[in-house]
Amino acid sequence: MVQVYLLSEARGLGKEVLGGKGFGLVEMAQAGFPVPPAFIVPTEACRAYLKEGAVPGLEEAVAAKMAALEGLVGKRFGRGEGATPPLLVSVRSGAPVSMPGMMDTILNLGLTLEGVGALARATGNPRFAWDTFRRLVQMYGEVVLGVEAQAFEALLEEAKRGRGVGADSALGAEDLEELSFRFLRLLEERGTPFPMDPWAQLQGAIEAVFKSWQNPRARAYRRIYGIPEEMGTAVVVQAMVFGNLGEDSGTGVGFTRNPATGEKGLYGEYLRNAQGEDVVAGVRTPEPLEALKAYAPGVYEELRGVAERLERHFRDMQDFEFTVERGRLFLLQTRSGKRTAKAAVRIAVEMAEEGLISREEALLRVEANALPGLLRPEVDREKAPKPLLKGLPASPGAAIGHAVFSNEAAERLSAQGLPTILVRPETTPEDITGMYLSRGILTARGGLTSHAAVVARGLGVPAVVGAEALRVFPEAGRALVDGVEIREGDLLTLDGGTGEVFLGAVPLLEEGDTALLEKLLAWAEPHRRLGVRANADTPEDAKRARALGAEGIGLCRTEHMFFAQERLPYVQRLILAKDEEEEEEALKHLFAFQKEDFKGILKAMDGLPVTVRLLDPPLHEFLPSEEELRKRGDEEAKALLERAEALKEVNPMLGFRGVRLLLLRPQIFRMQLRALLEAARELREEGLDPRPEVMIPLVADPKEVERARALAEELFQEYGPIPFGTMLETPRACLLAGEIAPLVDFFSFGTNDLTQMTFGLSRDDAGRFLPRYLEEGLFPFDPTERLDEKGVGRLLQLAVEEGRRANPRLKLGLCGEHGGEAGSVRFVEPLLDYVSASPYRVLTARLAAAQAGL
Ligand code: ADP
Ligand code: MG
Ligand code: MG
Repeated sequence: MVQVYLLSEARGLGKEVLGGKGFGLVEMAQAGFPVPPAFIVPTEACRAYLKEGAVPGLEEAVAAKMAALEGLVGKRFGRGEGATPPLLVSVRSGAPVSMPGMMDTILNLGLTLEGVGALARATGNPRFAWDTFRRLVQMYGEVVLGVEAQAFEALLEEAKRGRGVGADSALGAEDLEELSFRFLRLLEERGTPFPMDPWAQLQGAIEAVFKSWQNPRARAYRRIYGIPEEMGTAVVVQAMVFGNLGEDSGTGVGFTRNPATGEKGLYGEYLRNAQGEDVVAGVRTPEPLEALKAYAPGVYEELRGVAERLERHFRDMQDFEFTVERGRLFLLQTRSGKRTAKAAVRIAVEMAEEGLISREEALLRVEANALPGLLRPEVDREKAPKPLLKGLPASPGAAIGHAVFSNEAAERLSAQGLPTILVRPETTPEDITGMYLSRGILTARGGLTSHAAVVARGLGVPAVVGAEALRVFPEAGRALVDGVEIREGDLLTLDGGTGEVFLGAVPLLEEGDTALLEKLLAWAEPHRRLGVRANADTPEDAKRARALGAEGIGLCRTEHMFFAQERLPYVQRLILAKDEEEEEEALKHLFAFQKEDFKGILKAMDGLPVTVRLLDPPLHEFLPSEEELRKRGDEEAKALLERAEALKEVNPMLGFRGVRLLLLRPQIFRMQLRALLEAARELREEGLDPRPEVMIPLVADPKEVERARALAEELFQEYGPIPFGTMLETPRACLLAGEIAPLVDFFSFGTNDLTQMTFGLSRDDAGRFLPRYLEEGLFPFDPTERLDEKGVGRLLQLAVEEGRRANPRLKLGLCGEHGGEAGSVRFVEPLLDYVSASPYRVLTARLAAAQAGL
């Protein structure tokens, strides 16, 4: 038998049972905050419903608690009696993990044509009664009966046009009554009549909330945030309070600290004479919360006190929803507020300094993966033209991208590798895919707590919302700003820190102020054991990484040095060389370039290890495209074309590259290693302390390593030895780690290739199927982003164990993209000596490593 709990009965139960919303309400009610009475159907019922299609005993349990609710409120569900209006309820979804707006909620439930009369009499406000009824029919029609929102909107528009008015609020009681009957007729015509029975409504609504766990946008959200599919949602059934009873009523959203900046103090938005959904949906743009000071100073003060107490109670920044009914404050929800990375850092540091939380807690409060976002660029004011448009700064960072007006267009352009900016009138949970794929989000309507703003901050995507001069026509794929047209594909720049939007691509500045971040990371350092290095190929990257705390370079890709404009001709000559002499000549030039490159990097990382990986890609990557060569048609082009054809591989990723190329073209190997050793020698002569290491890519067999080592030793004779290591990026190398380990000083797990080869999928082609795979839950996450612990991780563990056993002095690192992803870092923390991440991701790796140590 399933249990259903009144708020007062749910003491001690957790979010996994009550859902986050239910849990927050129980806590608030217990702490004496003004919360409308409610009962909670636990997540277990949802799971049972989705599995069996029914929940035995649920109806009875709900009826019993409804009776209790009636007692608490002093009204009968769905039935008005004399001067007492009927009890109406909201039926609200609430998962154990916050999924704002992703599932369904139905308000004003329990109202029938009979009830409308009673409600009108009891409130003395027939307009309100009919408005409440038409909202119920509309919401129920959409959510439970599955009729498209557009059908209701069209009827509403028609009613307004008939009256010659623009706003819903200009419709009178009779208009709303008539509209209600139109809505009822619409549902009748669709074969899904509105149930004129409160209990039938209740059952339909609860089941609809259960089902909304499975709706596409909720699934998409869970996929993006890695939330397990099987949790299910709880259902909160709560007595309605009304923010739309007149000018002394309203509804709002508050934050105990500013979610964009982290600044301490009550912050939020308020919409007078409105029902909650109006704010969240971004349909009307609300006023700043301070407006309430003028309308109802007492309520504002009360709210300030509430905010402070909420924060003390929950020991975190809270994001809460409230409604004022005729001057009386009710709290409807609270949860730890989503925040920008910048705000997260500020809040964590300041709360620790206020003594509200410990420093260790502060470290755990910041999502390590979000840190690179702190260094997000902003528009360079000096160089920027006049903005086209200004809206609200909803999520910081500047973004440049091509305008898209739908999920579909975002997917299409992203698949072509184009950055996109999603432009919408407002966003709804349906837009989650487009928001996720886009570099920036721009909306015409909605405030700083609108759906677009909240989700963008959660995703770390720059956003400008409520840009009122913008008119968007998604179906037509265009938008207008004062006669200027924006079409799909047009380049836009937006700055989510200032709210400005520009036509075209505008110069950006990298961001600066990181004092609080540095403080947080200083607290992290004593808890970090794992070393953190950077992947960097240029002195600039090396310097940047070092400034961000990198303790060396874990991967310096030398081929990037070959690609530079002035060098390619020599690489091409090397490829075309007909005899040793020509080859020597080409290598001599490349040697000079490489030596200078290495000097620059070693200098930037003076005193710290720099792991240089020798040439990895196949040679033909350095040739112009065949098409281009054909067009050129001169003698050299012909020769190159011939070589290109000879070098062509069906599957270059698994072809003639890495150690294979280095062993069969040992002159290249020698040139590169000599350049490195010579660079170090020259720096040492200058009094510096270079620490080069050399690394061989793509080995699959100990024999390869043996041969490479022999080649290296020749030069070590001349220059003195440096650490010699190999990448572990083929499954076979991992399996044979015990045989390879004695031949080297270090392993570095190249988890990009290792993942590709373990899964047998190419990152460059995965775009065709991986998104679908994730959508269908075939893969729980994208293994190219987050290390696959089960498979790739197992190979890694095996190689670590057998490698260490065979060579106790072996050093172990990781240098794939995963080195900068928090979950992956936590996984390898107990296994390795260091990870290496792209420069900005060094911050993520440092914090994640410390978090793992806590
Ligand atoms: P979501 O999870 O999408 O935020 P909620 O269940 O919080 O959905 O409901 C959305 C809004 O509906 C809330 O912000 C609140 O303003 C309003 N609402 C929900 N329940 C009630 C209620 N019992 N009385 C008044 N307003 C309510
Ligand atoms: Mg809510
Ligand atoms: Mg590789």
